[in-house]
Amino acid sequence: MRRFLPLLVLLMLSLLIGCSSESDEASGDSVVLQTRLFAMDTVVDLTVVAPDEATARRAIDEAARTIQSIQVWGSADDPASETAQINAVAEGYSGSVSEDFVATLRIALDVAVSTAGAFDPTIRPLVELWNFSGESSTVPPAEELAELLPLVNYRQVELVDDKLTLPAGYRLDLGAVAKGYIVDLALQVMEENGATAGLVSAGGDVAGFGERPTGGAWIIGIQHPRLPEQLFGALPLNNAAVATSGDYERYFELDGVRYHHLLDPATGSPARGLTSVTVLAPTCAEADAWATAVFVLGLEAGLALLEEQSELEGLLLYEVEGQLQQLMTAGFSDKLELIE
Ligand code: ADP
Ligand code: MG
Repeated sequence: MRRFLPLLVLLMLSLLIGCSSESDEASGDSVVLQTRLFAMDTVVDLTVVAPDEATARRAIDEAARTIQSIQVWGSADDPASETAQINAVAEGYSGSVSEDFVATLRIALDVAVSTAGAFDPTIRPLVELWNFSGESSTVPPAEELAELLPLVNYRQVELVDDKLTLPAGYRLDLGAVAKGYIVDLALQVMEENGATAGLVSAGGDVAGFGERPTGGAWIIGIQHPRLPEQLFGALPLNNAAVATSGDYERYFELDGVRYHHLLDPATGSPARGLTSVTVLAPTCAEADAWATAVFVLGLEAGLALLEEQSELEGLLLYEVEGQLQQLMTAGFSDKLELIE
């Protein structure tokens, strides 16, 4: 099996990379459709397996529509989104929020509590100051960072049923969990529309249900954090999800220092210590949030928290004198196939 895994991964990747929707003739009784779209600032690939063409098409179209719907509520950079409109209320938002917003914020707040604020959905003022999604490549002055730190504190967020209350100046950023959340939702929509299996890959967030068309678990590749063309390893997905957060996704370099988009709420600056974190979890929303959270927590605290939670497994990569090192939970190492 080990010898064949790289081959399988290549196969999976070519399957994933194949653009516009097309059916797979090799799969006997079922139809496979794939499509690719751009959402959440990333390429999203959807694969659907269904008993017939019409079902497959409906399932993939509905899933694609679900993915696009994130723009309406989750995307803080889009001024028309629910998040941006909440953030625009200078005196502090108070009112109802949508179902998806509530679900995502609840996960974010849970992870914030579990990590004592290393993960914090009120990080938005710092995200705006650093502006990694824009063209900015300057380090903000220390005084400006210090001024914003009091506006980052998840304990100030009140969420009762669908009623959200924020203090003046507080702004939310669900970017570290919304992508995973929408991947889960898209899979659910595929299943509700008659798909027998499905896979969604959005940047570093991947989840699937059912079996791949040729039988057996879906197999996903984990990107090498320093060699973009190369995979670090492969992992079978049994109705589970994987998300990776790394310092290579959005960053700039200045005087030999890498400034990336994963911020430590304690300092206001990029979290130091790790290169990338991959988390395996029952849902992609959890995997996404925890990958970001563990990255910010760092090697020891991050690994300890993963070990503590039986439903989470993870891989932490870091550099020592330019050499990539790895640590992982026992459950992760059982599943991981390293690629030389
Ligand atoms: P990506 O979206 O690049 O796949 P992540 O899922 O790790 O990566 O999310 C990164 C985003 O999360 C950042 O762009 C920012 O909006 C937000 N973020 C950064 N630092 C934190 C933090 N400490 N807690 C919560 N969210 C954060
Ligand atoms: Mg994340």
